[in-house]
Amino acid sequence: MSPTANADIFSKIFSRHVQRSLGRLEPHQIALGMRKVDALGPGTVVTSGREMLMFSSNNYLGLANDPRVMECASRAVQTWGASTSGSRLLNGTNELHIELEEQLRAFKQIEKVVVFSSGYMANLGVLSALLTEDDVVVIDKLAHASIIDGCKLAGAQVRSFKHQDLESLEMVLLSIEPERSKLVVVDGVYSMDGDFAKLPDIIRIAHRHGARVMVDDAHGTGVAGPNGRGSAEHFGIDEPDIITGTLSKAFGCYGGFVGAKKEIIDFLKLSSRSFIYSTSLCPSATAAVLQALTITREEPERRENLWRCTNYLLRELKSLGFDTGHSETPIIPIILRDHNRMFDLVAALDAESIFVSPVVYPACPKHKPRVRLSLMADHTLADIDHLLDVLDTQGRRLGLLRLN
Ligand code: PMP
Repeated sequence: MSPTANADIFSKIFSRHVQRSLGRLEPHQIALGMRKVDALGPGTVVTSGREMLMFSSNNYLGLANDPRVMECASRAVQTWGASTSGSRLLNGTNELHIELEEQLRAFKQIEKVVVFSSGYMANLGVLSALLTEDDVVVIDKLAHASIIDGCKLAGAQVRSFKHQDLESLEMVLLSIEPERSKLVVVDGVYSMDGDFAKLPDIIRIAHRHGARVMVDDAHGTGVAGPNGRGSAEHFGIDEPDIITGTLSKAFGCYGGFVGAKKEIIDFLKLSSRSFIYSTSLCPSATAAVLQALTITREEPERRENLWRCTNYLLRELKSLGFDTGHSETPIIPIILRDHNRMFDLVAALDAESIFVSPVVYPACPKHKPRVRLSLMADHTLADIDHLLDVLDTQGRRLGLLRLN
């Protein structure tokens, strides 16, 4: 085939279709999606010299800017330097990595843990190491992008079931040849919907069909369950066959982890390419998470306030007539069916110094753009009341309230 003008790798960027889609976004809409944050406060941020109430952060326990966590990060830099400058297999594992893996193992009550340099890398690493082209991986339709990418990297056959639909899960499992190895992968808490995966049923069904279960508990860890152990503790069950998570949300730092039986973790350490061929977690992040874990264990009142605010906001939003989908966690979407009205709502909240984020496809279904609210332990009921007042006024003005 002879090369044409379209053969340039950049041509897709300048295609009429992409440029038209970009052109549809007004400059203020792009700006709303990429606001520059200058400083963090308790439940607040400063942008362009303006202090705003922050309802768009995954800093669930307020630990990212806790002075004790920040102090541990700076001390680690003084002792260990800014970076490990390479993979743990090449540059060695430092004692912070070993301590963190032990602390996470004890926190999650699982046999062994390995730390990755992000939650995304953890999912990529496990799935690409564990799955082959002969295996089938069964995922929820709304699985996180890092799960989808890990499955693609592995080249495994991917089958999906309808979001949270156990019958659909069972049908998919039934349709797979029994001799095939199968892995069911779900999020513990869905990041754009805020609903818990129905773990007890999912694990029971999967095991009945000879499938193993992996749960990405990025949004459950530190938040869910009486001790913050995560989604499994929320349901009062043991951890599934494989658990992954991030250290960036409730723990407020950076990094990811995988927990499972010893043999699985030992296998991953020698076969996960995102673990072997990438620089290990830097000393400041590792030390900071260690401190964040201690605070998570010792200050349950943070989690208690987070849930007090969550339950209150959910109840009040519903009674005002907002569509919050099936949310039951500190992630609360206001689901709108119109992109312009979504951006109008974000802009109206912005004008009232309330920071929220617009969410569009592919982060959520095309026809369900949303404003994603997420709560923090630093919020007060007075903050939530202020948010509700503004949402009530703007929701009425923009015609967003459902008739009850
Ligand atoms: N899984 C889920 C469900 C997530 O929401 C995220 C982060 N948005 C990740 C994995 C990736 O974690 P990290 O940001 O640590 O790479």
